[in-house]
Amino acid sequence: MTPQATPPTGKTALLVMAHPDDAELSSAGTVLNLIEQSYQVRYVVCSTGDKGTKDTAMTPFQLAAIREQEQKEAAAVLGVHQITFLRHPDGELDQSRSLRDEIALLIRNHRPEIIITHDPWRPYQIHPDHRAVGFATADAVVFARDHLFLPVLLELELAPHAPLELYFTFPQVADHVVDISAVMEKKLEAIAKHKSQLQYMPAWRENIKLMGSKLAEGKPFTYAEAFKRLVLTYQ
Ligand SMILES: [Zn+2]
Repeated sequence: MTPQATPPTGKTALLVMAHPDDAELSSAGTVLNLIEQSYQVRYVVCSTGDKGTKDTAMTPFQLAAIREQEQKEAAAVLGVHQITFLRHPDGELDQSRSLRDEIALLIRNHRPEIIITHDPWRPYQIHPDHRAVGFATADAVVFARDHLFLPVLLELELAPHAPLELYFTFPQVADHVVDISAVMEKKLEAIAKHKSQLQYMPAWRENIKLMGSKLAEGKPFTYAEAFKRLVLTYQ
């Protein structure tokens, strides 16, 4: 019998992000809203973030451990249900088949309705990890969906899975604006756990609020997060 892409049955959202802190900075309010709507929210963090410091005494190994702990604490503030750390070196992700295949495997395993990732098509997106993860995740959606891709996954009894929606963070043009006014303080509380990153940004609270209010311009609410949303339809 030919396996078919199965429609999702549970309500799961999977965030596939390059670094510890990307999920909270881009999407913490949306995560809180999804959990409020009874979604299981799970993270995939692709790199250790082990280059994100200006402290010349810090080693990459120390920083990776610090940032993984910060990510766990930030996710716990939001009530995120699970985190998978892929632990690739920071800055060295590329559009590899192996990253795409790792993400495809995790999509089949977690079977999300919604996937949230970086927008790799945003003009002047200079961070290579953000581009790499965005492209790898978009490609992985196809590899997770169609059974003839990655036949080894069938051997592992990971049946094809077709997500319904793909959200890209910080897009050039947003078409899905989420009201996070009621949860802005909780978003700030989660971001505050990323102490190793915030020490260089004393005005981070004001900047996060300013960004949230800009994204809500023209809307009947105070703060927003905004995405490019692809609705994936299947026959
Ligand atoms: Zn990042």
